[in-house]
Amino acid sequence: MSKFLSRQYRKLIPYTPGEQPKDQRLIKLNTNESPYPPGPETLKALKGREPEQLRLYQDPDSVRLKEAIAGLYRVQKENIFVGNGSDEILNFAFMIFAGEGGKIYFPEISYGFYRVFAELYQTDYCMIPLTEDFSVDPQDYVCRDGMIVIANPNAPTGKALPLYRIEDIVRTNPEHVVVIDEAYVDFGAESAMSLIHKYENLLVVQTFSKSRSMAGARLGFAAASPALIADLERIKFSTNPYNVNRLTAALGIAAVRENSYYMENCRRIMRTREYTAEKLAQMNFSVLPSAANFLFAKSDRIGGRELYQKLRDRGILVRHFDKARITEYNRITVGTEEEMEEFLTAVKEILEERDGETI
Ligand code: PMP
Repeated sequence: MSKFLSRQYRKLIPYTPGEQPKDQRLIKLNTNESPYPPGPETLKALKGREPEQLRLYQDPDSVRLKEAIAGLYRVQKENIFVGNGSDEILNFAFMIFAGEGGKIYFPEISYGFYRVFAELYQTDYCMIPLTEDFSVDPQDYVCRDGMIVIANPNAPTGKALPLYRIEDIVRTNPEHVVVIDEAYVDFGAESAMSLIHKYENLLVVQTFSKSRSMAGARLGFAAASPALIADLERIKFSTNPYNVNRLTAALGIAAVRENSYYMENCRRIMRTREYTAEKLAQMNFSVLPSAANFLFAKSDRIGGRELYQKLRDRGILVRHFDKARITEYNRITVGTEEEMEEFLTAVKEILEERDGETI
């Protein structure tokens, strides 16, 4: 840390992203990317006119991209904001919607970035514990005195709330913005997108990183009332007007055009998820019911950290969180059918080896 860093940032603990290994041979089940490549139309966009146009700035209003996304969800482009990944949009939301001296509520076990953003903006925050079975209890969020942020499905648990529960939270907090982070919604949860016309305080945030195989392109979007979108635009034009680069915008437009390719991949991932969950349960794992592209599971035959390490030794990377209540768990991204077979075989062998050691 240099002596120049402003005092208010000296205690900030940055978010730790999951490992991005250089070793391509690792089976990578640790950062919830799609195991499938972008679709053919999307890849074609890289060969079109856009690369030649790179010398020019892109449209700072991202009109064509917004129109494409709005068309997909049958809303107006004034209802859509696009960002450099959904992280950027969440960043803006924490920056501007908590209110002066305001408060932010989010689940204690959820996306780790929420806490980092709250600390970054020195906003008072309250992390609400999950229930015994790792659910978000919607009652904890009704009639609150501050902004609310909920990942639905939640991460790293994968559990989702039904839409009517989300609506209760949005309806009972009319004076505060309710952010529903739907990074994983395409894998089997109900989106709150249909409620944006009814509630001016609802901000739905989604991403192309997971269900649309574009984590490396950095494209997120939000849907909300035009007034909330205008607020986000105000901040974008006060920080980085060209936040979504020209190539990513072209990829995004093409990805929307071949949406059915991506939705078919989601269905395939959901089938693989259910198969993997069943196989883990047969090995006596406790597996939380997941509406996302990952599973959160623990075994009473091996500790969470140890399983993580032994899988890593075999070239399989999953995500382990050193956090008291979830330290026995691992979060396992759903890969291809073949990857999950290799994962299951490795788990079986690790458990057998361990049982051999303890007999
Ligand atoms: N929300 C949640 C719950 C996530 O897990 C992630 C991925 N780390 C994000 C948002 C951010 O995704 P991106 O910035 O790639 O859109």
